[in-house]
Amino acid sequence: ASFWTHVPQGPPDAILGITEAFKKDSHPQKINLGVGAYRDDKGKPYVLPSVRTAEQKIVQENMDKEYAGITGVPDFTKAAAVLAYGKDSAPLKEGRIAITQTISGTGALRIGGAFLQRFYPNAKAIYIPTPSWANHKAVFLDSGLEVKQYKYYNKDTIGLDFDGMLADIKAMPKGSMVLLHACAHNPTGIDPTEEQWKAISDAMKEGGHFPFFDMAYQGFASGDTDKDAFALRYFLKEGHQPCLAQSFAKNMGLYGERVGAFSIVTSSPEEKAKVDSQIKILVRPLYSNPPVHGARIASKILNDPALNKQWLGEVKEMADRIITMRALLKENLEKLGSKRDWSHITSQIGMFAYTGLGKEEMERLAQECSVYATKDGRISVAGITSGNVERLASSIFKITG
Ligand code: PMP
Repeated sequence: ASFWTHVPQGPPDAILGITEAFKKDSHPQKINLGVGAYRDDKGKPYVLPSVRTAEQKIVQENMDKEYAGITGVPDFTKAAAVLAYGKDSAPLKEGRIAITQTISGTGALRIGGAFLQRFYPNAKAIYIPTPSWANHKAVFLDSGLEVKQYKYYNKDTIGLDFDGMLADIKAMPKGSMVLLHACAHNPTGIDPTEEQWKAISDAMKEGGHFPFFDMAYQGFASGDTDKDAFALRYFLKEGHQPCLAQSFAKNMGLYGERVGAFSIVTSSPEEKAKVDSQIKILVRPLYSNPPVHGARIASKILNDPALNKQWLGEVKEMADRIITMRALLKENLEKLGSKRDWSHITSQIGMFAYTGLGKEEMERLAQECSVYATKDGRISVAGITSGNVERLASSIFKITG
């Protein structure tokens, strides 16, 4: 007999299921807006020219393949911290930010979850927005934290439920952990305004809450990496000591290279050293040390001034193409005479648009129009091209009338 007869069949991953349905469809103009990966205007995966150049330089340098330290490639983590916190950041200059390289953003969230599970001094529950990236709940549950939710999306306005969010933060027990999407909220594409961030920071301070920023899209929201770091840097100025999960999957297109970082702002270099030591103790039995190739690419791009400038231009190009596709989709829907208000498509930012379409409408979109995306009505704008936007608009128009 097998040892595994009792293992129950688990449900398939929601997004991978969409890709499978898409692959089976024989429609020549089928559209896949499920996956959160950038595509060029021909709908093809995009490797940034700055990444190609960085890779060539690395090959030319004939580097060895020795292990990195437990916390990764130091030139990479130092530069990643500067990118997020800003070169003038006080805690960075004062040497009180602990940072470790991670297996992309997911790994950063998981190391963060594990650290908080072990050391957070108050209730080990983390609040995530409703809705949030589908993996947040699983990552934190598997880290041993309890997962709770706060209000975020208002389906009537297809916008932020700011009052609900603030009320929920105010109602949390003192010293709660709160996950905040630093920019380009996934799945809604709806971010608080700068004024709203200020009120959120005040409410968090009043409650003595701990902010955990997830920044998977720095540069992707506005096209400007500094602008997209507003919330994180503002919280720092206000005296919060947040922790941060960074991903270079989207803004460098390094998806499969798994490049990320987890950092915590502490109150002193002594505290930082202690936190660092405990992060190492967490990482060592998990995967010993992280892979070097992707981190070397990111490090080259962040540390070489010419390459850095080129990369910032490429980030802006990607963000701009997405903004253009949003405008085109809205314009085409209006041209067709749609009576729905589609202004949220252009007011939302980042890789995704939350269309406001319901589950049944999304199912019809797939069945009748061969347009695939998640059932919550989220579409990946990065999958829209000048070649498919008209067909997409007429498909959405056909379903929504
Ligand atoms: N956080 C959010 C909000 C995301 O959308 C993603 C990617 N979809 C991640 C984290 C992590 O992605 P990765 O592990 O590929 O960096």
